[in-house]
Amino acid sequence: MSYSKEEWVPAKRSLGQNFLVDENICRRIVDAVAPGPGDTLVEIGPGRGALTGFLVEAGPERYLTLEKDHALAAALSRAHPGVEVIDGDALQFDWDSLAGGQLKIAGNLPYNVASRIIWEIVHRVVGFERAIFMVQHEVALRLAAEPGGRAYGALSAWVQSFCRVDYLFKVPPTVFRPQPKVDSAVVRFTPRALEERPSDPDALSRLLKLCFQKRRKQLKGILKEQWSAEVEAWFADAGLSVTLRPEVLTPDQFGALSLII
Ligand code: SAM
Repeated sequence: MSYSKEEWVPAKRSLGQNFLVDENICRRIVDAVAPGPGDTLVEIGPGRGALTGFLVEAGPERYLTLEKDHALAAALSRAHPGVEVIDGDALQFDWDSLAGGQLKIAGNLPYNVASRIIWEIVHRVVGFERAIFMVQHEVALRLAAEPGGRAYGALSAWVQSFCRVDYLFKVPPTVFRPQPKVDSAVVRFTPRALEERPSDPDALSRLLKLCFQKRRKQLKGILKEQWSAEVEAWFADAGLSVTLRPEVLTPDQFGALSLII
């Protein structure tokens, strides 16, 4: 995308603006998204349009972008008249309004709000086909972490309750302008079957936040105010000791426990 002199503004750190300048990485991300005829594509934070041109070329039926920077949203609209540019905040977007089906979601996410955006999308958009996001490498490890390790936490258990998460590839700081201080990584999210989704997401969210605020404590201590014979029986039936720490429970075990807490 090219800019007139008046349109060119420096990157804003407050909006997590690290723009991709490497075509190969852009193409690898677009290949992972793989939009095609009949697809609705949503891109979060298109910025200066590093991915947008390639994504338009791939030919989705409908292409919607969400960009919080007014100047960049206006420039993108002019450069790509066929793209529906929403000049707004992805955290305020009505994600529930997006139907599943042939819906794909993509973005090199602003790192300061990436986890919050992903937290919202996985539970509010039902039945999308896949989402491909670039995030900080350390966040990618947390998203894909298995129970038992240090990287596994509330974000891992929450996201994996709704989606399968695949770590795709690492991206070095050198492919961005300005360059971030840390590595990045591209991650794929594929929704789990509808019947596997948590039946009470609010209860699950509350339980995860409670447990991982005190992750060094034993579950019995963390849950002492919620403790009951039913909870005790649930641990016994699951073959789990009440002295375990939260990081050993799987996403599905958190889902089941949240229904009786
Ligand atoms: N996609 C571009 C690229 O790869 O070069 C830009 C990526 S940059 C890491 C993140 C983009 O998200 C910026 O354009 C920034 O203005 C935008 N952004 C930041 N916070 C946002 C929010 N809450 N909602 C929507 N866009 C946001």
